[in-house]
Amino acid sequence: MKYLIVYAHPEPASLSGHLRDRAVEALTEAGHEVIVSDLYAMKWKAVADRDDFLGGQAVEGPLDYTRASRDAFVEGMQAPDVVEEQRKLLWADVVVLQFPLWWYGMPAILKGWVDRVYAYGFAYGIGPHGGGFWGKRFGEGTLEGRRGMVAMTVGGRMAHYGPRGVNGTMDDLLWPVQHGVLFYPGFAVVPPAVYYEVGRADAAAVETMAQDYVRRLLTVQEVDPIPLRAQNGGDYNDVQVLRAEHGEAAGHALHQRDPVYVSNTWLGIEGDYTPRHIAPTSRDALEE
Ligand SMILES: Cc1cc2nc3c(=O)[nH]c(=O)nc-3n(C[C@H](O)[C@H](O)[C@H](O)COP(=O)(O)OP(=O)(O)OC[C@H]3O[C@@H](n4cnc5c(N)ncnc54)[C@H](O)[C@@H]3O)c2cc1C
Repeated sequence: MKYLIVYAHPEPASLSGHLRDRAVEALTEAGHEVIVSDLYAMKWKAVADRDDFLGGQAVEGPLDYTRASRDAFVEGMQAPDVVEEQRKLLWADVVVLQFPLWWYGMPAILKGWVDRVYAYGFAYGIGPHGGGFWGKRFGEGTLEGRRGMVAMTVGGRMAHYGPRGVNGTMDDLLWPVQHGVLFYPGFAVVPPAVYYEVGRADAAAVETMAQDYVRRLLTVQEVDPIPLRAQNGGDYNDVQVLRAEHGEAAGHALHQRDPVYVSNTWLGIEGDYTPRHIAPTSRDALEE
């Protein structure tokens, strides 16, 4: 298989760098092809602006980025670094976004990769938008048929991101990435690899995380994706609102079919401050 790891960490000698290296080594040994887009090493341009379009300085009047993106995509006038990343995405069977959690989301350099690479006509604006149909997206689109996964290190405790944790649930934090960035252009999203409280990880814990990451990557085609509801799969009505028969509860879990996947079911134990790095999930509960 072909793996693209889009990797965002400024320090190669970090834990994130170690996990990436272990992933590349294991995948290559198993006979897979791997490309890493190491955004810091590439000095990736994170800001979306006129320079993303060849001749962009000549665009007359105020810049309408969406329109300019569409025109450049159609006319072959996109910046070469953007074209190259789109080529890698089309090449890959599996795309992994690997990053440390920074302020509840991706580091800016990775967000900038998404903003620039996900062009109009490539990642969005596919198919008609109007009447009862609003584009091929959320389960359909250019990247359909591929698997997408988040791999992330986290400073905070596992319990902070569990069902009642102070930070909100990990699934809510990952919603913009998993539903917005991966599911939107068509990826089947597999459960994320999330490693908590990594600043307190000893060598044995780091080894456990590395083995977990490698296992997830090697079995990525075998695991059931998160059962996100396809926009055009019948669960939504003609204004893309979930039909009443699918429940009335609020929250992101509404947009999954049963059984809903919960990536962190850890409630914490008062007085127990043991660092824990890999969270139990709803699927563990089902298997018991
Ligand atoms: C701007 C910013 C915003 C942040 N926002 C959040 C937030 O919203 N929520 C939150 O929970 N956290 C947040 N954090 C913390 C952040 O998530 C962690 O610092 C990050 O995930 C740690 O990953 P790392 O790869 O940098 O690990 P490192 O700091 O490099 O390493 C962690 C531990 O792993 C071990 N290790 C390091 N390198 C290696 C190696 N090469 N080989 C083997 N073991 C190694 C060491 O024991 C080290 O202490 C933020 C941090 C920053 C800088």
